[in-house]
Amino acid sequence: MGITLRPHHLLCTQGYSGKGYSDTFVENMNAVVAQLRGSKPVKINLTFSTDDLCGSCPHMRGVDFCETNERVKRFDRKVVEYFHLEEKEYIYQELVEKIHKEVTPEMLADICEGCSWYSVSACREKIISRNYSQ
Ligand code: SF4
Repeated sequence: MGITLRPHHLLCTQGYSGKGYSDTFVENMNAVVAQLRGSKPVKINLTFSTDDLCGSCPHMRGVDFCETNERVKRFDRKVVEYFHLEEKEYIYQELVEKIHKEVTPEMLADICEGCSWYSVSACREKIISRNYSQ
């Protein structure tokens, strides 16, 4: 069936450093990220709505309804526009490869503006280098 991911979570799953909104959120994020960062190709369904990570988040209020909807929809929109994404099935590792080829530090600064995790998790370094062990 694959994992459901919203566009900006393509970046969060690369930048993630083990910190999150709650224990339940972190537990779920750890499990999802462990799969996605493995070498085995993982099918994902890109959805322009709440996803499998939102499902364990204390900020989710309902389907397609995050407490900070305006902000997270902006993150999603920018990721979709920069990387020309569609709401369909992808292989996560192929998308990460594409993003890695196309992304610049300026794009990340633009997409992630206003996100509190951006500096906490050193996302930029991880996404640019694809070295998740930092
Ligand atoms: S903060 Fe919003 S977009 Fe982020 S995981 Fe939670 S519900 Fe989803």
